[in-house]
Amino acid sequence: MYNQCLTGTRILEVPTTSGLQIIKREMGSSNSRSNEGSQRRFLVGSLNKMPGVEQKFYGVSQLVDLNISSQGKEKHENGIKEVIPCGSQEQDILECKNGGGTTLFKPLSLKKPLYASETFVAWKAHYDIEQMQMKLMRKKTDIYLVAIGNFPSFITDFRLMISNEPYSLFDILKRFLEIFYQNMPVNWLSSINPEEKNWNITTRNHKVTGKKQYLVSDFYPQLKKWKPKNTYGILGLTWTDLYPKESLNFVLGEASKRHKSGVISFGRFEPKAFDEEKSRDIEEINHDIMWKLLKVSSHELGHLFGLSHCDFFLCGMNGSSSVEEAMSQPLFFCPICIRKIQHACKFNIVQRYRDLQGFFEDLNEAMPCDRFRHCKEWLDNCLRFLIDDEE
Ligand SMILES: [Zn+2]
Ligand SMILES: [Zn+2]
Repeated sequence: MYNQCLTGTRILEVPTTSGLQIIKREMGSSNSRSNEGSQRRFLVGSLNKMPGVEQKFYGVSQLVDLNISSQGKEKHENGIKEVIPCGSQEQDILECKNGGGTTLFKPLSLKKPLYASETFVAWKAHYDIEQMQMKLMRKKTDIYLVAIGNFPSFITDFRLMISNEPYSLFDILKRFLEIFYQNMPVNWLSSINPEEKNWNITTRNHKVTGKKQYLVSDFYPQLKKWKPKNTYGILGLTWTDLYPKESLNFVLGEASKRHKSGVISFGRFEPKAFDEEKSRDIEEINHDIMWKLLKVSSHELGHLFGLSHCDFFLCGMNGSSSVEEAMSQPLFFCPICIRKIQHACKFNIVQRYRDLQGFFEDLNEAMPCDRFRHCKEWLDNCLRFLIDDEE
């Protein structure tokens, strides 16, 4: 069953698990103060046995106001439009100065009861069952990336000098995702041409742009059949436009939790904003393309780890209704989403943020722009918040 979630990126949902029903019963549906403490535990689970630094980090989830917003039906009324996201272009650096959970992570107003949201405990109930089933068959450990179809030569020939080493665009993406989903090996497979493979992917020419588009969902069963046995998840990259169904005009990327596969396209303009006069084809790799690639790939892989869109904070896993909105959202995940991927990947939070800090320091040196500088400064503040007291 498809659950339409955004114009920018979509997700193929899996059926609700019985785990969710249990959580709903245990949580109750009232927001009385008496059960608020137990409800809060569902956000990030029990923190009792965790190291102090993790307790502090996940304790930021306390910023979420469990009362449901009265304007909840108006999309992003209290979130995206009014609060400046950390790690995005619009970020005000002063906002993130001096660290601290309240300046690093901005809570959103809840639009539905907690039992209907994907808390850590709700996500874990499903994830752990899925992992048990996977282990019974064969352990799946690796994330695979694959280029689908042809890319222009300015993409394939692109090299960025980082620490005196030439990195291709695909090397940079691999390095970033290996840090973002630390402990999960990330590998590139040889590129594939769906026409040569007779994958029978449905195509059409978009009526405004005139460009060829692939029907993205046709890739999932093919990628599922074709991927190596140890694949945890596979993400295809294409320069060709994608569309999610006949009635919709464009999608940046989409992932199927069930098939553990996703496809992203990062090349072109959104047809909604397409202007034949002004919208020229992209002809070089700049920081906008790089940001789009990092942003969309980390978001879609989040879906392959079973994460739904985040309702709790401004976060890299927020849903969005346009490419513009998706690109203005933070790259980094909130503590509740990090809790989920840390459970899956078993990384050290401080080490992961240090590695991300190094990555953005290098990237901003090689390709300076406000976004990468803001990312580095946000990471500096986040690390200061996490470890200042410890040292
Ligand atoms: Zn999404
Ligand atoms: Zn989140």
